[in-house]
Amino acid sequence: MISQSNLPKFNDSAQAFQHLTDAELHRAIVLFSLIGKSWVVSVGSALARIALALRIPMSWAIRPTVYAHFCGGESIADSEETIDKLSAHNVRTILDYSAEGQTDESDLDATCSVVLATIQAAQGDARYAFAVFKVSGLSSNALLEKVSTSLAGGKSLSQSEQIAWERVQARVRTLCEATAQAGGRVMIDAEESWIQDAIDELAEDMMSDYNRGRVVVYNTVQLYRHDRLVYLENMASRAEEGGYMCGVKLVRGAYMEKERQRASNLGYPSPIQPDKASSDRDFDAALRWVLHRIEKLHLVAGSHNEESNLKLCKWMAEAGLQPSDERVSFAQLLGMSDPVTFNLAAHGYNVAKYVPYGPIREAIPYLIRRAQENTSVSGQMSRELELLRREQTRRLGS
Ligand SMILES: Cc1cc2nc3c(=O)[nH]c(=O)nc-3n(C[C@H](O)[C@H](O)[C@H](O)COP(=O)(O)OP(=O)(O)OC[C@H]3O[C@@H](n4cnc5c(N)ncnc54)[C@H](O)[C@@H]3O)c2cc1C
Repeated sequence: MISQSNLPKFNDSAQAFQHLTDAELHRAIVLFSLIGKSWVVSVGSALARIALALRIPMSWAIRPTVYAHFCGGESIADSEETIDKLSAHNVRTILDYSAEGQTDESDLDATCSVVLATIQAAQGDARYAFAVFKVSGLSSNALLEKVSTSLAGGKSLSQSEQIAWERVQARVRTLCEATAQAGGRVMIDAEESWIQDAIDELAEDMMSDYNRGRVVVYNTVQLYRHDRLVYLENMASRAEEGGYMCGVKLVRGAYMEKERQRASNLGYPSPIQPDKASSDRDFDAALRWVLHRIEKLHLVAGSHNEESNLKLCKWMAEAGLQPSDERVSFAQLLGMSDPVTFNLAAHGYNVAKYVPYGPIREAIPYLIRRAQENTSVSGQMSRELELLRREQTRRLGS
């Protein structure tokens, strides 16, 4: 068992940015300084959206800057350099291909094939930790909403909707089956509350089919929802009754403003916690709850929050778990919270980065979200910026 004094320190700048060349360090400083200014992000996002709509080429500006910082490359092959670099510092990769807002059956099939390629690429390759997909890339959102309503006792599906739903189920099964065959693990991302019941239903079905003997499929639980601790307990009880294991990725949740806006527009109570402290409290409670049942539930903590990551390290130590215990993983996004990721890795924890990849045009909505998120978590980002600057000074002095 590790002693508490061996817990990682997230302010070790040399360790945090060892993987960056001097030029990359400089780029990160310029980028983080810019996206720390909300007016730059607002203007930049608006310009990017206009250029996207008018099909104005902008890859010359985006490729060497935000795209190079937050994305692996345009294809899996293109992302090799990033995957290698992470692996050299004991950080594993979760290739993330996200297609958004598709409705056409052939586009949904195409997304399924691309995700399948990420699963196949990871087979037998220790540089990869998990595969991941969003169910909304395999189904229209309208159908997921209808299925969610019908699961809650609402109107049942029409015959054509039922057929479309069976196709979605088949795509999800294809991906989970391929992961099981490849000896891998796959996470299903959580999305908006009005489509989440359908996603949970699919994820639990897949866990029941593939999580016997080992954990292949992980469902995601968002603790910014005030009902999710109860859901977590119910999901675990259903698994126990069904004789299978659970994989659970815990996150705070990414759609807070959209959720609150919709609830207010449609006049129903918001599913989101009243304040940040409540999300933090439930996130930490869920980490502890899962950790105490680690024989039955395997855990991925998807968070950039230093305090939560440190608490998890401490609780692992208290529970007598080694940092390298394969039932517990930590994950962050590429280009974000490197002090957390690389210091965890240096202390022997299982840690991985989501590595988004794909054509630059398709990555723009993702990049806008990253820039906006970094502006809104300015406290955390300014700490990272301060560490980046400290590291630059340290290198200049050495
Ligand atoms: C590896 C990884 C995988 C992820 N997968 C998913 C996923 O599948 N689905 C998903 O939805 N998100 C996902 N996320 C995003 C995640 O949910 C958070 O949006 C993001 O990580 C910020 O939360 P944090 O814990 O890192 O940091 P923090 O800065 O500590 O928390 C910020 C988060 O706290 C919550 N919050 C902020 N203000 C308030 C408030 N006033 N009231 C209530 N809550 C508040 C919000 O959820 C906000 O995003 C993932 C993140 C990572 C790193």
